[in-house]
Amino acid sequence: MKIPVLVIGGGLSGIAAAIRIARFAPDVQILEQHSRLGGLNSYFYRNQTLFETGLHAITNYAEAGDKKAPLNRLLRQLKLRRREISFCQQLESRVEFYGHETLRFSNQFELLDSEVHSKFPQAYGPFRQLIAFIDEFDPFAPAPFRSAKTYLSELLGNRLLVDMLLCPLMFYGSSYENDMDLSQFAIMFRAIYIEGMFRPKGSIKDFLDLLTSHYKLMGGSIRTKCQVKKILHCKGQVTGVELNSGETIECDHLLSTIGSDETMALLEDAPAKSMKGDTRLGFIETIYELKRDEADSLPTDTTIIFYNKGENFNYSSPDDYIDNKSGVICFPGNFSGLPAKEKKEIRFTHLANYSKWKKLASDPEAYLAKKFATSKESRHLLEPFIGRFNHNIVFENTFTPVTIERYTSKRKGAIYGNPVKIKDGNIGYKNLFIAGTDQGFLGIIGSMLSGVSIVNQHILPKL
Ligand SMILES: Cc1cc2nc3c(=O)[nH]c(=O)nc-3n(C[C@H](O)[C@H](O)[C@H](O)COP(=O)(O)OP(=O)(O)OC[C@H]3O[C@@H](n4cnc5c(N)ncnc54)[C@H](O)[C@@H]3O)c2cc1C
Repeated sequence: MKIPVLVIGGGLSGIAAAIRIARFAPDVQILEQHSRLGGLNSYFYRNQTLFETGLHAITNYAEAGDKKAPLNRLLRQLKLRRREISFCQQLESRVEFYGHETLRFSNQFELLDSEVHSKFPQAYGPFRQLIAFIDEFDPFAPAPFRSAKTYLSELLGNRLLVDMLLCPLMFYGSSYENDMDLSQFAIMFRAIYIEGMFRPKGSIKDFLDLLTSHYKLMGGSIRTKCQVKKILHCKGQVTGVELNSGETIECDHLLSTIGSDETMALLEDAPAKSMKGDTRLGFIETIYELKRDEADSLPTDTTIIFYNKGENFNYSSPDDYIDNKSGVICFPGNFSGLPAKEKKEIRFTHLANYSKWKKLASDPEAYLAKKFATSKESRHLLEPFIGRFNHNIVFENTFTPVTIERYTSKRKGAIYGNPVKIKDGNIGYKNLFIAGTDQGFLGIIGSMLSGVSIVNQHILPKL
């Protein structure tokens, strides 16, 4: 069988890339190993309730009139109408360094601006310079790694402010330990602080259904439960793929969205090529489903808290199973215009040590017990700050880096992939390109834009 264009991976970058291709050439097929699309941003059912796996908030909010905004550009590229999605904006979020300082922010940049003005008056002038710099800076121009931390420290001269500004950007998109590439920093600063966060009114399933029906209407096809075992190639040119079932599919163009190392591993007999960068950051997340309780004191006006309780903010792979000194507390129901659900939800996210969890996973009972123990520890640590909810839990579910690895085949379960990004998507084959997390754009909008831009750059001109 021959399909002119194949896309490996039905996560958000693969779906967006395939829609973009289908607009011009409907002979495109997505190959996804699971029965369901979405990858890191998917869903599962427990007790007939749908739980989203990855969605806290979507970054890069933009009003309809802002034609140049990444969100509106993306919708245009995919030929999706804004009115097909109901946008619920975040209420208010904050960076909370307990015992030190708080910085509130929302989709109105003025809030963060006034917080920095009143809480870090001496750094306010340089903070305005930073905004001017981000306005001018082209983060997509090819450039070697430049340390955002060094740049910010020199400019702002205030370690606490630097760490507080970096904390949400790192948790929502850094594959580097304790630093970020300046380009990535500029992208994330704009995406989170200047543009802001939202979520669709429906669930991630509704969003995925919208994308897939749109794609199918254009003529594109999807094969689920279809794992690619090998990428077939000859003299630097890909000829097709071999599936786990033994079936082969020939193609003219192949786009892989499964990661750079993960793609290289499928290229049998490929010349040894080190993709470098071996530190992989793992995360653990617990979702709590809670009985509604009018008497509880959980926040109703806060969407996300990015917190730190340590003396310094440390964003690195922990020595222990998890590092709950810092993390993210998300209240997924607290968005403007979101219909109230019968039950409430809270999500706690922390950095986690992949190797420790991997070792423990060989003993399922001990693995499960450890998940409960770490979730309980985090609850004890954080309830004094956000309010008690322990007595209202009806369901809890924890994923570790091992869950992510098992589900998406991401090496070491690293959500943000390889710290070394391949911005042009080129891994040395004439008709094979990578898009998604390892191309350098992160998050939902980022990964979708990555799919679209690699298709525009490398595939559409050849169709
Ligand atoms: C817990 C969590 C919370 C998150 N929260 C947010 C958030 O609030 N906001 C936000 O913007 N982003 C969030 N993200 C990040 C966001 O989900 C990702 O950046 C984005 O979805 C990555 O999409 P992708 O398509 O590049 O990769 P993936 O989603 O990993 O997609 C790759 C796909 O390829 C498939 N695959 C792998 N190997 C093969 C193979 N050999 N054959 C066939 N198929 C294969 C996988 O099954 C997967 O479906 C979160 C992620 C997680 C895990």
